[in-house]
Formats: sequence, structure tokens, C-alpha cells
Amino acid sequence: MAGLFTNRVLVTGGCGFIGSHLCERLIEAGAEVLCLDNFFTGSRENVERLLSHPRFELLRHDVTIPLYAEVDKIFNLACPASPVHYQFDPVKTIRTSVQGAINMLGLAKRLKVNILQASTSEVYGDPMVHPQVEDYWGNVNPIGPRSCYDEGKRCAEALFFDYKRQHQVGIKVARIFNTYGPRTHPSDGRVVSSFIVQALLNMDITVYGDGSQTRSFCYVDDTVGALLRMMDSPPEVEGPINIGNPAEITMRDLASLIIELTGSRSHIAYRALPQDDPCRRRPDISRAREQLGWSPKVGLKEGLLATIDHFEALLRRTDYRTAL
Ligand code: NAD
Ligand code: UDP
Ligand code: UDP
Repeated sequence: MAGLFTNRVLVTGGCGFIGSHLCERLIEAGAEVLCLDNFFTGSRENVERLLSHPRFELLRHDVTIPLYAEVDKIFNLACPASPVHYQFDPVKTIRTSVQGAINMLGLAKRLKVNILQASTSEVYGDPMVHPQVEDYWGNVNPIGPRSCYDEGKRCAEALFFDYKRQHQVGIKVARIFNTYGPRTHPSDGRVVSSFIVQALLNMDITVYGDGSQTRSFCYVDDTVGALLRMMDSPPEVEGPINIGNPAEITMRDLASLIIELTGSRSHIAYRALPQDDPCRRRPDISRAREQLGWSPKVGLKEGLLATIDHFEALLRRTDYRTAL
């Protein structure tokens, strides 16, 4: 019965990469989880182990459609995150970020509950300030191929702060930097999973541009830990807060490291750099350290080895190999 629950948590995008790990951690912590997803990039398989759990409920629903449910907290993660996926139907991507935020904020407003937004380092665009601090307003192309994602997420942030100012909704805005780990979608083109699969199959490793562009990769367990901490932080902690691992690496070095860790015979093959691909990205996480007492624990090698194990197991499955 609604009202009896004190820890009923809605996770939108709960069948996706980060969402499925978040659902697992919430269940482990004793929460009741309502996992909402439209299965665009996520799958039932990602939450397979939770399906029979008595405190887990899966709802096929699209966040662009209003939702009437009774929950105590909302994590809003619904949105494709990989460029290949968010550029597949850019108009839908914007609607998911914007209309999805309005609906989930409307729900939070009616229920008077806290809502956390999975925002992104993409709000900084191709940054002129390095490392990126939360006070930097960014350098985003408003009309390019990445703008459906970047501007959608920026608009969602604006909505979160307006719902706070106008309707006193308890908000938490987390700016997540590149996160990797088991369960990234097999064919979504994200760099870590792409390089690992190419290395394991001894195929060419496709480095875009000259590979001098940098990213800072955070292991999914660390990212999820930060989201959980932020949700339970005091009301004045509303963000935006950068969540990421400040260890920065070029894509060329990442390719070499993955070749080394997998013992692969792959070679690096250079391909055209996609338009508006940011040159560098690294979070300043002072605010996360101060306000959440959080910093990442898993180093890149350790996280890559765990991710490699996951993809090795997947590649042993013929259905997976044929889906590649
Ligand atoms: P993902 O694509 O694996 O997961 C997104 C999930 O949202 C999927 O399960 C998908 O089916 C679902 N979804 C998409 N549109 C929806 C809609 N309209 N209604 C309901 N469900 C919908 O991506 P992810 O990496 O798990 O990212 C999760 C969130 O974190 C996203 O909001 C993303 O923008 C944000 N984020 C991720 C990263 C990263 O590096 N992975 C970095 C920054 C921000
Ligand atoms: N909404 C929802 N669930 C709720 C309450 C609202 O999905 O429990 C949706 C509602 O359909 C609306 C949006 O959230 O489109 C914004 O709600 P709000 O109350 O801010 O706006 P209003 O209803 O006044 O347009
Ligand atoms: N990238 C690459 N080869 C690939 C996929 C991506 O060199 O097969 C590069 C891409 O150009 C970008 C970086 O890796 O500079 C991260 O790309 P991803 O799509 O994972 O994330 P995002 O660009 O959104 O940070």
C-alpha cells in the first residue's frame, strides 16, 4: 500500500548500464525499487537477477508520458548516453531529456520527494576550462550533431533549478563524466567497450582522429556510489556536482593499455574524428569530496580488467558474437 513505504525508489532508465547497477545496489541496501524503462537501449537482461526479487518491480514506460506512482525518491536516468544511440532519433532524445524531466519533476512536486538528475559532463561541451569545475558554463555547439544530448541535458538542469525555485522541489543534479564497466550496450560504440571487444577479437582498434583527445573514465561502482550518497545528502547539497575520476588518458594510450591488458594481437587503425568531439575532459571533483565525502576508489587498470572479464564471458556466447 502506498504510504506504508519509506524507502520506495523510482529509477528511470533502470534497465540501462548505470541504472541496472544502481537498482542492484538499492536492492542490496534494502530499498523497494520501481524500475522504469522503455527498453530503447536498456534490456530486461540487464536486470535479470533482480526480476524475481520481491522488492523489485519492472515497469515498461516512457518518461515522456506522465507517470502516476507513489515513491519516496526518484533517480532520473532515462536517456540514451552513447553518441550512436542518442543520434539515432535526436528529436526523441531531446523529448526524453526535456519532457521526461518535466514529468518526473511534476511527480516529485506532487509527492514532495527528492529527485536526482543524471546530468553529464557534456554540459561543458568542448571545454575551454580544464579541468572542468561546476561553475564553468561550458562551450556547447547548440546546433551540431551532439546538441540533442548536450542541450537536452542543459535544459533539464535548468528545469531542475526552476522547479526548485518555483515549486520548492528537493533536487540533486549530478554531472556524470564518462563511466565504464560491465553491461555497456554491446554495439553502442562507446570507446571502452568498443576497444575491449576489438582487442578480444584481435580486430583493428579504431581510434578516432589522431587519438590525442582525452577522457577521464570512472568505474561504474564508483559512479553509482556517488549517486547514492548524493541522494541521501543534506537538502542544501543540490549540485551541480561533478562525478568522475580525474585520471585523464588519451584515446591512443587507452588503446595501447587495452591491447596490453588483453594480450591482444590488434593494431591501432585511425579513423575520422566525429564532428564536435570534445578535445579533453577531466573533472575537478573538489565539490564531491567536500560535500559528499566521495572520491573514486577503482583505478583504470583494475576497472578495465573487470570489464574485460565481463566481455570475455559475453564473447563465449554465440548469440552475442552474432549480434556484433
Ligand atoms: P544507457 O543507454 O545504458 O541507459 C539509459 C536507459 O534509459 C536505457 O535503459 C534506456 O532504454 C532508457 N531510456 C531511454 N529513453 C527512455 C525513455 N524515453 N523512457 C524511458 N526509458 C528510456 O545509458 P547509461 O550509460 O546507463 O546512462 C544513464 C544515464 O546517465 C543517462 O541519463 C546518461 O545521460 C547519464 N550519463 C551517463 C554517462 C556514461 O558515461 N555512461 C555519462 C554522463 C551521464
Ligand atoms: N506529472 C506526472 N506525475 C505526477 C504529477 C505530474 O507525470 O504525479 C506530470 C504532469 O502530467 C505534467 C508534468 O508532470 O505534465 C509537470 O507537472 P506540474 O505539476 O509541474 O505541471 P502542471 O500539471 O501544472 O502542468
Ligand atoms: N572513440 C574512438 N574510437 C571508438 C569510439 C570512440 O577513438 O571506437 C573516441 C571518441 O572520438 C571520443 C572518445 O573516444 O573522443 C570517447 O567516446 P565515447 O563515444 O565513448 O564518449 P564521449 O565522446 O561521449 O565522451
